Amino acid sequence: MLSAVEASVTIGSLLREFGSPRFEAELLLCSVLGCERSHLIAHADEAPDPGKAGLARDGFARRRAGEPIAYITGRREFYGITLKVTPAVLIPRPETELLVELTLERAAPGARVLDLGTGSGAIAVALACERSDLAIVGADISETALAVARWNVRDQGAAVELVRSDWFEALAPGRFDLIVANPPYVAEKDAHLDRGDVRFEPPLALLGGKDGLDCIRKITAHAQDRLRPGGWLLLEHGYDQGDRCVELFREFGYIDVESLDDLAGLPRVCVGRSVD
Ligand code: GLN
Repeated sequence: MLSAVEASVTIGSLLREFGSPRFEAELLLCSVLGCERSHLIAHADEAPDPGKAGLARDGFARRRAGEPIAYITGRREFYGITLKVTPAVLIPRPETELLVELTLERAAPGARVLDLGTGSGAIAVALACERSDLAIVGADISETALAVARWNVRDQGAAVELVRSDWFEALAPGRFDLIVANPPYVAEKDAHLDRGDVRFEPPLALLGGKDGLDCIRKITAHAQDRLRPGGWLLLEHGYDQGDRCVELFREFGYIDVESLDDLAGLPRVCVGRSVD
């Protein structure tokens, strides 16, 4: 009987099976069928391969259990690029595109750029895809994250050098024109850690100690020794950390310090220049 039931499965019926939100069902199904969303609409009456229907249902079940779509499909769009993502890395977010834009605006031709805690390589790869003149280094402490970054660098044919390093520790000597990072900045007991995608993301990429600022403090303190005079430090931070980041940058002697808003109108990236 099972085959008779399966015979009636169509793309349209599978989409309805997941229920809402429809958009999520479409993303999951596109990923399994390897097609565009427009294909689903045009071929709603088509019967998918039974194996693929099974895979789609597995995906639906994982999503219902709360798993982020990006970890189920293994892909996420960022700055016009499709990146591979696994649970070893933070899922690239739209607000981080601001960090890429601000870096591009400040990078002179041929600039040396360091992306600290590169994770999936999202920032470094996006920069390289926009500007082939930049010399970009991506560093991360996690070997499993670096494996994902390596895949993305290769997939995009991006000119990015990847290094395993605990922040600045294992980097070859030399200074950069820009240092950029989306470091862990969520406070340890932040209530939003119990909700949504972050429940599945690596704590190493999220948690920044008691007030969330541990890594930001560390990077701000040490970046001075690694920036050329006049070089920019650009750090993503939490929506409520803008003022404290500006203070911190000024305490450490950076100039032209400001926190800039993301598209949602929330303070998101602190920038400043080294005077050294
Ligand atoms: N923006 C992420 C969040 O709030 C945190 C990312 C990070 O710590 N860098 O969920």
